Amino acid sequence: SLTFEGVHQRFGSKDVLCGIDLSAEPGQILCLLGPSGSGKTTLLRIAAGIERQSRGRLLLNGEVMASESVFVPPEHRGVGLMFQDYALFPHMTLLKNVAFGLTGLSSSAARTAAASALERVGLSGRGDQYPHMLSGGEQQRVALARALAPRPSVLLMDEPFSGLDSRLKDTIRTDTLQILRESRATAIVVTHDAEEAMRMGDRIALLRDGRLIQTGTGRELYRDPVNLFAAGFFSELN
Ligand code: ATP
Repeated sequence: SLTFEGVHQRFGSKDVLCGIDLSAEPGQILCLLGPSGSGKTTLLRIAAGIERQSRGRLLLNGEVMASESVFVPPEHRGVGLMFQDYALFPHMTLLKNVAFGLTGLSSSAARTAAASALERVGLSGRGDQYPHMLSGGEQQRVALARALAPRPSVLLMDEPFSGLDSRLKDTIRTDTLQILRESRATAIVVTHDAEEAMRMGDRIALLRDGRLIQTGTGRELYRDPVNLFAAGFFSELN
């Protein structure tokens, strides 16, 4: 599990996160939902170790990853990242793209692991192709394979489907859900789309201005919103 304890983040004089207490349970998908600027990406960056919080602690499977006195760097956290700006390398084959992050393995073991990750996302036998030979959805699946290849216990995804058109989005979302279930990874998925959070999240954490407004299942948030803001977020769904 991944736990945020009283996490604060301050940029200059602005409090971007104000004491977040939140936990992602093993094997579950937690969606961070909220409008632009609510602090979703900042929370994910703190989980990844790309950014360090100004107060509070982050624990991964009971171990402190970041606190006032401890800071475990991203490459030692064993978390998989699928961020929008982590595009595929155009000059590398798919196999090389996926094997890229598999440091600590021999090159043949890395190739084998990368090939099996590609197989998991339905792209077996395509390892010698280059990203430009693939559709947007297929590229997205390669990015997912790359994130899953090291078999992380936690996968962090920032707006993973935002670049896709709506039909493709549905397919890739369904595929991704299935792959996440099979890999039994804990996943945190950032989205500003309530429908996406309802579809993907075992639990949803609704954020606004750096504060946690409500946490619960999609059904709980939809049926029993704590305030008008939460109600408004789900009002367009049916
Ligand atoms: P979006 O959906 O637009 O990505 P978000 O909910 O992910 O929004 P964040 O990206 O976490 O929000 O940003 C939260 C706030 O923190 C914003 O007001 C943003 O301008 C501010 N912020 C983020 N990073 C920095 C930084 N490095 N320095 C100063 N302010 C920052």
